[in-house]
Amino acid sequence: KEKQRLDKILAHIGFGTRKEIKKLVKEKRVKVNEEIVNDPGLHVWTGHDRIEVDEEEVQYREFIYLMMNKPQGVISATEDRYDEVVIDLLEPEHALFQPFPVGRLDKDTEGLLLLTNDGQLAHQLLSPKKHVSKTYYATIRGVVSEEDVELFKQGVVLDDGYQTLPGELKILKSGPESEIELTIYEGKFHQVKRMFEAVGKKVTYLKRLSMGPLTLDDDLEPGEYRELTDDEVKQLK
Ligand code: URA
Repeated sequence: KEKQRLDKILAHIGFGTRKEIKKLVKEKRVKVNEEIVNDPGLHVWTGHDRIEVDEEEVQYREFIYLMMNKPQGVISATEDRYDEVVIDLLEPEHALFQPFPVGRLDKDTEGLLLLTNDGQLAHQLLSPKKHVSKTYYATIRGVVSEEDVELFKQGVVLDDGYQTLPGELKILKSGPESEIELTIYEGKFHQVKRMFEAVGKKVTYLKRLSMGPLTLDDDLEPGEYRELTDDEVKQLK
């Protein structure tokens, strides 16, 4: 627990500049422990004192961690000139923490996307040295065979000459339209699609199921998200 200036806390969680917060206070719209605040510089215990703005309780915390089932057609970025981005799908109460996507999924890829404003955690998860696992479900045009499983186990050579690390390919259904699960430990641009191209096949649908210890919640429809549980956050760190 620590004591901090009220205006600093409110500014941090997105209520505007200190000047704007001074105005909120002047308009008697801010309460601490049920009392109207007159001094924006009031020191309050974060995580203990009850802060309200316009009768709504304000949750103070530094970091936010969201699990989204990214829908197709939306860009995994914070801004884009033309297209909808994943941040547009957030409620204001979550957007105000300014989370950003940890890594990227293609526009036409669905599934697990972690959003956070915890730069250190994001950095760790994205570090090529950490080899964080990522598991995908995909439908494939072409007959995926045991030979492909072997090739992926060795690592395949992509169109730019890069030899991938070993990946674990599991065949769920083999046929002219195959279904697979693939776990990889790196994240090159369009990696899954390019790995299948390397063996002469085409990914027709791609969904990320997990990333490290984090597994996509079945209850989340495409476009929906939820906060991570404390347990999930702990496992990620
Ligand atoms: N591999 C791809 O090809 N696309 C993604 O979105 C993720 C992994």
